Amino acid sequence: MLFRCCYDFDLFAHEIIRAMKAVAVIPGRPNSVHLTEMPAPKLSDIPGGRGVLVKTLQIGVDATDREINEALYGNPPPGSDFLVIGHESFGEVLEVGPAVKDLQPGDFVSCTVRRPGNSIYDQIGRNDITSEETYYERGINLRHGYLTESFVDDCEYMVKVPQKLKHLGVLSEPASVCAKAIEQAYLAQQRLQVWQPKKAFVLGAGQIGLLATMMLRLKGLEVYTLARGQRPNRKSEIAEAYGATYVSTQVQSMKELTKNVGRPDIIFEATGNSRIAFEAMEVLGLNGALVWTSITGGKAEVTVPGDKINLEWVLGNKLLVSSVNGNRHHFELGIQALSHGELTYPGVTERILTHPVAGLENYQEMMRLLVEDKEALKVFVNVSQ
Ligand code: BGC
Ligand code: ZN
Repeated sequence: MLFRCCYDFDLFAHEIIRAMKAVAVIPGRPNSVHLTEMPAPKLSDIPGGRGVLVKTLQIGVDATDREINEALYGNPPPGSDFLVIGHESFGEVLEVGPAVKDLQPGDFVSCTVRRPGNSIYDQIGRNDITSEETYYERGINLRHGYLTESFVDDCEYMVKVPQKLKHLGVLSEPASVCAKAIEQAYLAQQRLQVWQPKKAFVLGAGQIGLLATMMLRLKGLEVYTLARGQRPNRKSEIAEAYGATYVSTQVQSMKELTKNVGRPDIIFEATGNSRIAFEAMEVLGLNGALVWTSITGGKAEVTVPGDKINLEWVLGNKLLVSSVNGNRHHFELGIQALSHGELTYPGVTERILTHPVAGLENYQEMMRLLVEDKEALKVFVNVSQ
């Protein structure tokens, strides 16, 4: 470990600033992922005694990290020429400020991603639905991420993970994204007064598709999880262990499935493919909700039967809900769902955690898995024990 002595001419003039390792990119420069060093965070970085200093245990990575490394998006924090990536955090609290009442050293936490801007939504704690074009996201846009040895933040953004859920803690952020999207659909469907969905299609069986499968099953829905690969494979096994029906679209297309089992009341789209996001519009049931969660960084164009969809959607009172990110409340919902899922389907969710990477030093292997390994359901870095 590297120690560097330096003088901070503020209240903490005697503090020794430790350097730590971090995995970063140079935004705008493709394939710039590298290991760097930066000052380790300290409790005093956060005002008002509200800081929580966390030792990083595991960080998950996903297509967003890959696309940032491909320079499709992502910006460094002001004054920095690099951006530390990694937005799916899990760690152990080392130290808390005097104003922090509900966390203590030894607690496990995950830290939310988006930080407030200035819109009215940001001001009421709903930065996950900011109405400003510029958004601040740790590890993605204008704020450093968590692929570091430790991180600090305001207790507002730190969400506790039960001790017994340590093995699934790194899934807190993806779980928050699913929990939010589902909650948004249910909230929006209150327009129907007595909506009681029975049947769900989940499109895609990546981490988001599988966690959504679990959450919809926990709500008692009949769930069909659609993905390309033919069963049996790990994805089909996980979906089936959650009590869903796995459908390989090589065997049965979404339209054929709809003919066989009927139109779904809710479709959760998580394929990362905009063509499928639009195709889903052709099979949704009357009064149904289609939830879009894919972030498609490319430039693909799709042709859709516009008149037919428009007609059916208007006559069928159908709803499209788009959802991204999650705030504290959604992290809490996601962590609750992970806990409920673990009790209901013990040992299933950990099968999502397919590809551990040992240490920050192995960042190249981490990126290689994200880019090349189509079997990698979840790549995550074991930063420390
Ligand atoms: C993250 C979200 C984030 C979104 C857009 C996703 O990968 O999980 O938290 O809001 O990217 O940047
Ligand atoms: Zn993500």
